Amino acid sequence: MPDDLYIRYLTAARQLADHQAECPACRAEEPCPVARPLQDRFARLQDAYLQRTKR
Ligand SMILES: [Zn+2]
Repeated sequence: MPDDLYIRYLTAARQLADHQAECPACRAEEPCPVARPLQDRFARLQDAYLQRTKR
C-alpha cells in the first residue's frame, strides 16, 4: 500500500532519472555534481524502503 516512504523513494528515483535523461555528463557516465546528491538520496530511500519490506 502506498505510503510516504514509498512515495519519496519513487520521487527520488524519478528525479534522478529525469536529470540523467537531460544531462550530457551523466549520459556519458562522467561524474556529475548535480547527480551525486540525487543518487545519495535515492540510495538512502531505497535502503530504507527495502529494509522495511523485508520485515
Ligand atoms: Zn548529471
